[in-house]
Amino acid sequence: MDFMDKLAQKVSSGTRMISQKTDEIIEIAELKIDLKNIEEEIEEAKLYIGELVYKYFLSKNESMPVSAINSKCREIQRMEYEKNRIKTRLNKIKGLKYCNFCGEVIIDEENYCPKCGHKIIR
Ligand SMILES: [Zn+2]
Repeated sequence: MDFMDKLAQKVSSGTRMISQKTDEIIEIAELKIDLKNIEEEIEEAKLYIGELVYKYFLSKNESMPVSAINSKCREIQRMEYEKNRIKTRLNKIKGLKYCNFCGEVIIDEENYCPKCGHKIIR
């Protein structure tokens, strides 16, 4: 292999590394936006439940809107799972590890989450 070939190979592997790094930076930025959005949606859903409960408190005739509250809570639960999934992905890219269940940061080779006790899936 002559000098120019070697140089071309070096440049191309360097470019690959740079483009991989750029992809990671873009993905981190996108994940952070997703995380922010989902956290806002969770807060909004919690406010909505609060309003339902307060409206019930004020009214003398209405019964507690249990099914509406339940379905909103299930929605929040789904969003919390999604939030943890995003956090896990973010930390995988950044080289950190999160508990898949509660989002706690996991140190090195721990097999169980120090916060919630769930087994760590690697
Ligand atoms: Zn945990």
